[in-house]
Amino acid sequence: MKFYKRNQTRKINIGGVIIGGGEPIVVQSMTNTNTKNWKATVKQIKQLEAVGCEIVRISLPDMESAYNVSKIKKNIKIPLVADIHFDYKIALEAIKQGIDKLRINPGNIGSKDKVEILAKEAKKAHIPMRVGVNAGSLKEVRNLFDNASRAKALADTAIEYVEVLEKHVFFDIVVSLKASNIDTTVQAYKIFASKRNYPLHLGITESGSIFNGTIKSSVGLGIMLYDEIGDTVRLSLTADPIEEVKVAYSLLQSLELRSSGIEIVSCPTCSRTQIDLIKIVSDMENKVTTIKNLRKLSKPIKVAIMGCVVNGPGEAKAADFGIAGDGKDSGILFKSGEIIGKVKSESWVLKLVSMIKDRLKNSLED
Ligand code: SF4
Repeated sequence: MKFYKRNQTRKINIGGVIIGGGEPIVVQSMTNTNTKNWKATVKQIKQLEAVGCEIVRISLPDMESAYNVSKIKKNIKIPLVADIHFDYKIALEAIKQGIDKLRINPGNIGSKDKVEILAKEAKKAHIPMRVGVNAGSLKEVRNLFDNASRAKALADTAIEYVEVLEKHVFFDIVVSLKASNIDTTVQAYKIFASKRNYPLHLGITESGSIFNGTIKSSVGLGIMLYDEIGDTVRLSLTADPIEEVKVAYSLLQSLELRSSGIEIVSCPTCSRTQIDLIKIVSDMENKVTTIKNLRKLSKPIKVAIMGCVVNGPGEAKAADFGIAGDGKDSGILFKSGEIIGKVKSESWVLKLVSMIKDRLKNSLED
């Protein structure tokens, strides 16, 4: 297991969730409902909570949305962050309504006096602020054409705004420096991390669909996380935000930084496969996300789902639970390396899920 020394950043409290200072990396997402419709927003946040989202951001494009902050907050369990662009008065209303954190974009919030007003009010309310620098909204970045210059401009802009907050003795700061290009993003975060110790919110912006966005974000965030940069992540995907949370946990688990509670190992299938393994594994993945409290396990339960008896038994034996296909309709079931029976292929998911639930129950009772 890789040993990470992730304790270099300042600890920031966001509505009871601590980020930075070596705390476990926090998984965030963002709603895509219309915030004016607070009931639909609450419904989506509850779905995000169920899959393990730990901090959620909502967009406040207008005052009407800002007036909904307290109603939304009352109906959810995780800290709520307001995403503000253009109008600092919306941010002031969000503070009044009890928001847990503000995210402002220096590229469009206007003059620095507005940031100063926000710093004063956020300090009074004891809430942190994220300076979220985004390459697309900064003309000084857009006009540059090489990655290194763009990265430097992103980092310089973040420092400039951080200095405005620091001037007002405001240090509850989180920073993000997002671009859609991996090299620019990684370089920008590295420059900033070498200059300030504020916790970093990682993301590759506009990364794309579940397929492309997952790959791009995982490469970009993977490089930084492996290098011990980053305290919280948001995987921006053009998809249901639930997918962002699932991908984030999978990414963090693959780097041994967080546990989603479950690790599924499966073979790629070949001409020896006589069962519909692709469907079984996909059903299994969907089913396990609905198991409550799985993320409370510090070490994931390893489950192997293998197509045949060539490599199957080896992997299945090494897992906590495993099944290796042994013909058209059935498989050999393993538990902690021992064969414990045979299971018809239509019951693999059910059987494995029930074994996982039993193991979880026993582990939590210990
Ligand atoms: S475990 Fe069996 S079915 Fe799966 S890829 Fe290997 S040989 Fe093929």
